[in-house]
Amino acid sequence: MNDKNKKSLTIALAVLAIVLVSTLAVYIFNQRSIFSSSLKEETISNSLKPGELNSTSSSVDSTSTSESASTSKNESTQSTNNNSTQSASQSNTQNNNQSTQTTNSQPASTPTQAELNNQKRNNIQNTYGVSVQYGNEFSSWYGSVTDDSKINSMLDDLNSALSNFPNGFFRELGASHLTYRFVAYAEENNQAGLTDHEYFSNVYIYISSMDSYYVKRVTYHETMHYIDNYLYGYYGYSPEDQYNALNPQGFVYGNFNGAYAFLDKDSNCGNYCYFSDLYGETNYREDRAEIFADLMTRTYLLNGQYISGSPMRAKADILISNLDNYFSTVRNTSPRWKRLLR
Ligand SMILES: [Zn+2]
Repeated sequence: MNDKNKKSLTIALAVLAIVLVSTLAVYIFNQRSIFSSSLKEETISNSLKPGELNSTSSSVDSTSTSESASTSKNESTQSTNNNSTQSASQSNTQNNNQSTQTTNSQPASTPTQAELNNQKRNNIQNTYGVSVQYGNEFSSWYGSVTDDSKINSMLDDLNSALSNFPNGFFRELGASHLTYRFVAYAEENNQAGLTDHEYFSNVYIYISSMDSYYVKRVTYHETMHYIDNYLYGYYGYSPEDQYNALNPQGFVYGNFNGAYAFLDKDSNCGNYCYFSDLYGETNYREDRAEIFADLMTRTYLLNGQYISGSPMRAKADILISNLDNYFSTVRNTSPRWKRLLR
């Protein structure tokens, strides 16, 4: 081999070595790329490990949790606000309740007059079985008493009047049919009071707003009408003929003559009077009602009043015996209407 051939062989070997190294380098590079990509895949797959996913999702969850937490925190804040709002409104409500309760509880401590009136009315209704109405509880041509103070005093007077009847009398009388109504104005004998005679099943006694004495007097007067309604309605009893027989010769009810009436300014009958007052000359019912109201309200008898043997006393005795005979609650008692008579 000559030098020229040696040189050519060396160059060829060098080129071959370079090619080999380059190939190896390319191979190694490729291998590294594959390895690194597999590493990447592994890294990716590692990054997608369930735990990491979980942690990621959990972080998402925790984010969402934190979001929800923050949301719930907001909610809780809101709910706290709401609660505080609610509690504020509750406390307002409670305050309202308290103020309402205060208003409501006022009756316990300082009840309103209207509430006191209602209690009084209920006591009357429960005790006697009658009904009592006032204010806007009915409408009447006579108007209704709406002033609480006036209603209060009228309830007291009504209760006082009803308490002067024997125990149980009103229930025996059929008090469930009987309603007392407080009216602003009524017209009868200038005392004001009106009984519905037409329908015994539903009788209203109107008591107008007057002073204490007249409220009680009208209560007695009108209640006597109701008693007469009862005696006629349930027993067919009417004392009309008996009363006519006791009147002056030729007298007809409705023809007024003050001379026959004990209390009238024109009275001229002395110890032998026929009627308690002029209004009693209207008809036998008014005759009885005026005698009854007089016996219930007066505190003492005037000279010659209801003196034994007088027609007026005889009328009073008929009335009294009627009450004794028809009412078991009256029999064997000493009712107020007897107290002045001997
Ligand atoms: Zn009358």
